[in-house]
Amino acid sequence: MLSYRHAFHAGNHADVLKHTVLLELLSYFNRKDKPWHYIDTHAGSGCYALDSEQAGKTAEYASGAARIWDRTELPEPLAAYRAALAQFNPHGRLLFYPGSPALAMTQARPQDRLRLFELHPADFESLVRTFATESERVQCRKADGFGALKGLLPPPSRRAVVLIDPPYEVKDDYRHVVDCLKDAIRRFPTGTYAVWYPMLARPEARSLPARLADLGAESWLDVRLAVRRPPRDGFGMFGSGMFIVNPPWVLPERLEAVLPWLVEVLGTDDGAGFDLEHRIE
Ligand code: SAM
Repeated sequence: MLSYRHAFHAGNHADVLKHTVLLELLSYFNRKDKPWHYIDTHAGSGCYALDSEQAGKTAEYASGAARIWDRTELPEPLAAYRAALAQFNPHGRLLFYPGSPALAMTQARPQDRLRLFELHPADFESLVRTFATESERVQCRKADGFGALKGLLPPPSRRAVVLIDPPYEVKDDYRHVVDCLKDAIRRFPTGTYAVWYPMLARPEARSLPARLADLGAESWLDVRLAVRRPPRDGFGMFGSGMFIVNPPWVLPERLEAVLPWLVEVLGTDDGAGFDLEHRIE
């Protein structure tokens, strides 16, 4: 089932958290010259026009990225996020929202490589178009990202950031994420893996972070940002989280600087808040 289209959600509060963390990971990797691989198991279409019919219908970016875009005084990791958005919006208005592959590309140096997986035919086509002039550094494949990951691990440089960001539309995605991460850690234990997950009432979503922590990685970080109280009827996403295996040692401190700020700016009621847990060896 491929009914999920990220265009409806591009730039929402979950993208703000996910993409701020992603930029932190890659900019940390750039402290060394040694090349890295960025692997995006669920890449989406690359870049989103915010005036499209899909984005306009929900306008989720208005209560997400647009609230960051409109600020001038930003704590450091968010200043980097806003600067990355500005590369796609040079004329001062937020018209385009870069997805994870496009944001990763802002960090890529000549020696780095992007490996992108996307199954939806239209999103895949748009992904290929986005990176048409980058065939040396970027490869896009219309394939199941969960299954394809194993073929890329370990990468030649033994440095990689892997983003696992499925739609979680089907229950099986929760199980696939756990199995995929478990297998990836076994093949390449020193890789940095970032799993995005939704905060929802459903039991699979609530238990996912604990199941990921139980996989036995020596170092991990779990960050959660709730933007509202859990809905009374039990339906709907009220926040999201990122579980990171082998995070940079600086990440907890960098996130502590922005999370209270994000709660204030993106929170919509008194249920807004954050959690940050980590075990860094
Ligand atoms: N990572 C993107 C970003 O942050 O900009 C958003 C990705 S979106 C949450 C999930 C994407 O995964 C959708 O575009 C969907 O079509 C795609 N997808 C769903 N199942 C997939 C699978 N098994 N393998 C690869 N892509 C898949």
